[in-house]
Amino acid sequence: MDFPSVKREQLKILQVNLGYKCNQTCEHCHVNAGPNRNEMMNKKHVELIPKIIEKYKLECLDITGGAPELHPEFKSLITQVSNIDCEIIDRCNLTIFFEKGHENLPQFLAENKVTITASLPCYEQENVDKQRGNGVFQKCIRALKLLNRLGYGMNGTGLKLNLVYNPIGPFLPPNQVRLESKYRAELYKKFKIRFSNLYTITNMPIQRFAIHLKKDGKLDEYNYLLQASYNSHNLSTVMCRSLISVDWQGNIYDCDFNQQLNLPIKGTIKTINDLLTQNISLTGSSINVKTHCFGCTAGTGSSCSGSLT
Ligand code: SF4
Ligand code: SF4
Repeated sequence: MDFPSVKREQLKILQVNLGYKCNQTCEHCHVNAGPNRNEMMNKKHVELIPKIIEKYKLECLDITGGAPELHPEFKSLITQVSNIDCEIIDRCNLTIFFEKGHENLPQFLAENKVTITASLPCYEQENVDKQRGNGVFQKCIRALKLLNRLGYGMNGTGLKLNLVYNPIGPFLPPNQVRLESKYRAELYKKFKIRFSNLYTITNMPIQRFAIHLKKDGKLDEYNYLLQASYNSHNLSTVMCRSLISVDWQGNIYDCDFNQQLNLPIKGTIKTINDLLTQNISLTGSSINVKTHCFGCTAGTGSSCSGSLT
């Protein structure tokens, strides 16, 4: 089965991957990030980002990595964009707060009203440590408590703290609304932690997750599950309709997954420099869809902001 064609609508979100360096090496990581990766966006490209946001009047800058906070220009980028009317999201692994030299990050993010979207694949230690590494769960809990103390996840502060669930194996996420209630109850009962929203995200069968599935002989089965669970209602809201993704070299893609698969965006605009210098509208252009796209439409659907249905 081929994935149906998808056309781009109005651009609202710029998702920027600042580089692949990370203090963790999670099993499911679709960018193969880790401490030994040295790819980082250069300063010249980072400086173009606020200009693009202003030119296209974008609603959101979504900063990702690796651990994007490891980029030397991370804070300067946020300081510049916080002067523009645009939401800033930091895709944060939470453990970065305990790395040397990053101790004041939570305060910095709060002062700049940055939305934190943080991975927490379970409210149980065993499951989190299995997927993300030993000791990660306890650090995440400490980080979430610290963020709550700063006002994150609390009503009336405007500081959003979103958690991300992704399955710890080759299956689809459960219902997002029900899982959010369960997370809320468990995290409050055990740790008095509060958060804004829970996003369920389907694991894409690419990069490190695909390698693990292949090793276990489950890659074909998982791809079949994604196709067999195709839900056409999700096609109208797949995130590539309103988002573009930028890699550390300044190339643009329809989404972070296409970036990892090296599937270029169609048309003449190929880089962030082109976005600034060319005046061709991206609206109505075709998206480079392939079989991995079934990961976005399976079941209740999946995007960087959780389920689609
Ligand atoms: S999933 Fe996130 S935290 Fe884990 S290795 Fe990849 S980039 Fe780092
Ligand atoms: S994988 Fe990317 S291109 Fe494919 S449907 Fe999902 S967001 Fe769109």
